[in-house]
Amino acid sequence: MTFQNTREFAQELDTQDKLHHYRNEFLFPQVNGRKVIYFTGNSLGLQPKRTRAFVDEVMDDWAKLAVEGHFYSEKPWWDYHERFAEPLSKIVGALPSEVTVMNTLTVNLHLLMVSFYRPTEKKFKILCEAKAFPSDQYMFQSQVKFHGYNPDDAIVEIHRREGEHNIRLEDVLARIEEIGDELALVLIGGVNYYTGQVFDIKTITEAGHKVGAYVGWDLAHAAGNIKLELHDWDVDFAAWCSYKYMNSGPGNASGCFIHEDHHDNYELNRFSGWWGQNKAKRFLMEPKFNPEPGANGWQISNLPVLTLAPYLASVEMFAEVGMDALIEKRDQITSYLEFILQEIDKEVNSTFEIITPTNPEERASQLSVFLHGEGKSLFDYLMKNGVITDWREPNVIRLAPVPLYCSFEDMYEFGQILKAGIQEHS
Ligand SMILES: *Cc1c(COP(=O)(O)O)cnc(C)c1O
Repeated sequence: MTFQNTREFAQELDTQDKLHHYRNEFLFPQVNGRKVIYFTGNSLGLQPKRTRAFVDEVMDDWAKLAVEGHFYSEKPWWDYHERFAEPLSKIVGALPSEVTVMNTLTVNLHLLMVSFYRPTEKKFKILCEAKAFPSDQYMFQSQVKFHGYNPDDAIVEIHRREGEHNIRLEDVLARIEEIGDELALVLIGGVNYYTGQVFDIKTITEAGHKVGAYVGWDLAHAAGNIKLELHDWDVDFAAWCSYKYMNSGPGNASGCFIHEDHHDNYELNRFSGWWGQNKAKRFLMEPKFNPEPGANGWQISNLPVLTLAPYLASVEMFAEVGMDALIEKRDQITSYLEFILQEIDKEVNSTFEIITPTNPEERASQLSVFLHGEGKSLFDYLMKNGVITDWREPNVIRLAPVPLYCSFEDMYEFGQILKAGIQEHS
């Protein structure tokens, strides 16, 4: 399709967009009396209007039933997490028994490393991306030290080539082969939080397995954003937060995936708690741990139902929309945003550069833009004029045109504000 940088054209795309009405399902902050153009759904998704009813339901059940709510509320609390299995497994391409919801993301990755990072003298290295999300870096360092190894020896980072913004698949594969037998674990972000680069999860997972390593994925920026086939790709484990593309609210619960192949492997360490105990035996309070089958056997504490409620609202919305429809719009609106950026660049003869891969296979809902000239004052101008984006050192703004609630007209409007901002600051 040839795009045009006009309001009429953008409005026509909105008219044709089958997901356009979902925009009305969300609450937008307002700036200058108008809904903002919200580009930070990769950081904290907007609140769906339907979420409040899910939270109120738990509050009402608690008020009316108190402890009885565990078993006798409309959605009983003791197995509330099981309501996620069906819809969430579709979002990440898993069997229902392979997913569960608990804790928060970094905590879950630590717990999954208890099972899947078991270093020995000969096999102790972790492969990750250079400049991984800071929480992941701290996690790797502390895990390696916990096992008595030196992070400088055990953590191997894959770097970008000089002058390039993204990591090449061939470099990841070469590094895996080079480390070979010493590689215990590959753990990478499925979508890089800074550049928006999407990794080839299937190919990297296969390569890790070839040298006998476990392969896990941090899907913080991938869940609800890209097509995942975690089961078929033989991913060993994965975890994601729910508050970015999945709109579950600040700091909210994490989802995890554990491949079926590992469910009955009782050689794997797990840190256990009573909510991982077999349902039939959970309240017998016996001393012997007999885990629930599947990913639920990794549960520890009784469920934080008030935080699961907003996530359930969101998962039901994703199930309704379906990842295929979402991805179709995602690709179109991301391409339209890219086009708008290129047009404005020509009009103002500016100096910004999109550092996200141009290949649609290697990107999803995010374009990261390197501002060579304009700097932070332009970012401040955008925020003041109702464009919510975020700033990352040095001089990068990240734009996520989330398909569930961003419109094509937003993209056009953003272009106009950007142009005015650049003109004002040059
Ligand atoms: C957002 C994000 C996190 C956040 O972890 P929390 O434990 O939820 O605070 C971790 N890793 C990556 C890659 C992220 O993008």
